Amino acid sequence: MKKLFPSFANPDTWRNNIFETTTKEQWQRIREKILKRDNFVCQYCGFKADKWQIVHHIDGNPNNNQEANLMVVCQMCNLVEHAGMGCILQGIVDLYKKSEFTQNEVIIKTREMRANGKTDEKIIRELGLEEKAEFQQDYNYLKPLFGFVTSRKASDYKTNIALEYEYEIIRKQKPANRQQTKIGEYSKL
Ligand SMILES: [Zn+2]
Repeated sequence: MKKLFPSFANPDTWRNNIFETTTKEQWQRIREKILKRDNFVCQYCGFKADKWQIVHHIDGNPNNNQEANLMVVCQMCNLVEHAGMGCILQGIVDLYKKSEFTQNEVIIKTREMRANGKTDEKIIRELGLEEKAEFQQDYNYLKPLFGFVTSRKASDYKTNIALEYEYEIIRKQKPANRQQTKIGEYSKL
């Protein structure tokens, strides 16, 4: 797994500041190719999903579509990696100075615990997240921090649908849930 840390895209490469040379059709083809190459698995946290995964430009330049510059990233990791978007624009990510886990583990464990219905308060405690920090557009400042994807609603409704889809995948994987369904079935007899 690649190491994840809070960051932001260089403003020079933001889509409204750059002339994109790739057509929509070309991008769709490249996107499909990378999704298949990475087997739909987020390269930060190992989460696999058939929908909503993002093909990310490692150097932030949307015109650099060389395969080595592209990787599959899940919605949660994407929100932390683009912390300016996650914290400010979408308003769903909080930053902390301390954690007992790595940023990659914070993502994996948050997804797992939220899918199991744990509150943010409980998840924050279990992850040892302490000392909340403000977002600053500064790479060195952000790098040692931990991004926590909260249960708040993001400003973009699509993000909420995508995150809910991630939690749903985890719920379906849970053997405990399958057991519950069985118990329910038995009680009907
Ligand atoms: Zn991920």
